[in-house]
Amino acid sequence: MIEIYKNIYKEIELFNLKGVSTATYSKLKKLNIETLYELIYYFPRAYDDRTNLKKIGELRGDEYVVLKGNIMNISAPPTRTGMKMIKATINDGTGVLEVIWFQRPYLRNSLKMGEEYIFIGNVKRGYTFQMTNPEFKLYKGQENKGEILPIYSSIKELNQNNIRKILKEALKDYLNLFEENIPSEIIEKYRLMDRKKALKEIHYPTNPRNLEEAKRRFAIEELLILEMGILQKRFEVDMNNKNIYNIEGKKTLVTKFLKDLPFSLTTAQKRVITEVYKGINAGKIINYLIQGDVGSGKTIVAVLLLLYMVENGYQGVLMAPTEILATQHYLSIYETLECLGIKVELLTGSVKGKRKSEILERIRTGETNIVVGTHAIIEESVEFFKLGLIVIDEQHRFGVLQRKRLRDKGVLANLIVMSATPIPRSLALSIYGDLDVAVIDELPPGRKPIKTKWISEKENEEKMFSFIDKKLKEGRQAYFVASLIDESDKLSAKSTEELYQEVLKNLPGYRVGILHGRMKNREKDEIMHLFKNHKLDILVSTLVIEVGVNVPNSSIMVITNSERFGLATLHQLRGRVGRGQHQSYCFLLSSTENDNSAARLKVLESTEDGFKIAEEDLRLRKAGEMFGVKQSGLSDLKFIDIVHDIKTIKLVKDICMDYLKDNEGKIKSEILKWDIEEKFNKSLTS
Ligand code: ADP
Ligand code: MG
Repeated sequence: MIEIYKNIYKEIELFNLKGVSTATYSKLKKLNIETLYELIYYFPRAYDDRTNLKKIGELRGDEYVVLKGNIMNISAPPTRTGMKMIKATINDGTGVLEVIWFQRPYLRNSLKMGEEYIFIGNVKRGYTFQMTNPEFKLYKGQENKGEILPIYSSIKELNQNNIRKILKEALKDYLNLFEENIPSEIIEKYRLMDRKKALKEIHYPTNPRNLEEAKRRFAIEELLILEMGILQKRFEVDMNNKNIYNIEGKKTLVTKFLKDLPFSLTTAQKRVITEVYKGINAGKIINYLIQGDVGSGKTIVAVLLLLYMVENGYQGVLMAPTEILATQHYLSIYETLECLGIKVELLTGSVKGKRKSEILERIRTGETNIVVGTHAIIEESVEFFKLGLIVIDEQHRFGVLQRKRLRDKGVLANLIVMSATPIPRSLALSIYGDLDVAVIDELPPGRKPIKTKWISEKENEEKMFSFIDKKLKEGRQAYFVASLIDESDKLSAKSTEELYQEVLKNLPGYRVGILHGRMKNREKDEIMHLFKNHKLDILVSTLVIEVGVNVPNSSIMVITNSERFGLATLHQLRGRVGRGQHQSYCFLLSSTENDNSAARLKVLESTEDGFKIAEEDLRLRKAGEMFGVKQSGLSDLKFIDIVHDIKTIKLVKDICMDYLKDNEGKIKSEILKWDIEEKFNKSLTS
């Protein structure tokens, strides 16, 4: 049976659909339809529901509708740009709607005044309701009144009718291949529509109720494949690895370390550390996501966890996304742990040749206790003596796939990922279905709020420079961030070089360093080192300083063209200051007139709470753009909006957990297993 089922993932050409030519198949590719599965799962984006036409009088605006009305009036008013425009007024007895077509002058003669038409499209609300370039057809003589017809996203080369025909053929001949992929106990318990029926109903609904049921089924199906994939891995690891760690619970070094610490831990830090120690002591593999806002003190938590593992006989790893960050971590860990007799080693792309092989050898023999480095290097080349804990800093660059790879490689170590990009807890739990979540929801005491100001005028920019001048004289340091991402951006944003020149001009006499992507890692390290040791007053940089960088004396952050960054990024950047005892300032330079950008800048002016900012971020941007979401595999979901459908996400997670528990961590359905292989594993690698 499974061999037959696998056919659905084969190329659509192999199925010889009636009346479909080779040329058509290549057009389908433009719609990302290559396999039978992708064709049958090419669901309508809307329905032409003649059973339930929208009344003009009920319109609210910003909605996709199908409605019917009489053409009252057609005109071709001139436009400022010379574009040809046709305008018609539609009336359905409940209200009036204006319809506009551009560059289709012939419509003036082909549309019939006084006739009834069906219109399909987006309605916008201006001073009246308006539809621009809608699909339309004469109502009279339509054979399928009362039917709900699918409306697919179409392209010029493949119109609505072509797509409908192809799908009708495919459904007729091959629907039977689509065996149920959701285990029957789940279908029964949650009263889900069965797969074949749902596929029929989603394309050609018999009534609105059935359509809703079909949608619900596919929402659950799509999520189930993903979550089952994630959770099963986790289960497998858990089941096979009880008591692989033998932790005596020694804490001599940990205690000594804490005693010498110049500050005491926050309650939140203590709570998280205790929780994770407990997990480690239990002897099975732990997987944690530790969330904590910028500056909440995650590094020290990582160090304490690593130290605990080392003291109890294991090696530890701390991975960072960039060399700068890895180096910084290395330096601070080296400083604090060396005196306890712990051997710490740095491993990044710059470490090469003989030095590298010596380090690798020391790690292999167990002479090295803690390795700090960049993800790639550690993943690729390192063999450990007795690895016990992997800490990954700045999780949002490190997705489900990488975690899976680590585990697939047989790395049976405790895994901790740390993220400064707070997302609502419930969302975190579902995105990171394979991780437990702990939150450091408290900042160390005595932090002064960072004063944030959006600067939109030249005049204020000058004031800002003289203010910064004053602060630099008092001994502080400043960051200036340029937003240019690649050279093609040149016209709309400042490059680091331009910004550097501007800073030199406006703040003469200071020591200014520059940091950008094209520099060699060694050069970057040198500059960072100089800045850290206050051999530089100002650092002009690209986004490379976004994550993790910690220079407490630096109290000023200037971000140019700040409208170009998302909220999370701006929050991260701002988090580079406010790390010491000095009052810190963040200046957001932007002359934007875009409402959405302005809203983002205002959010930053008004709050520093990372969770609040994350929520606003969700509101202002599409979920898929959010950090961490893209890498989770959740951003491609068709049916689920991961922000608003939290309930469904939770439900499916529970469904999967229950199922896996009942079945000793095994997926019994071969069909579902194959879907996970095709959809989950492959989608993560792309
Ligand atoms: P992040 O969570 O952003 O990674 P860091 O770990 O870099 O934050 O910590 C930011 C700063 O706060 C560092 O200078 C660190 O030494 C300091 N810090 C951490 N924990 C505490 C604490 N409990 N009390 C005072 N300062 C702390
Ligand atoms: Mg950090």
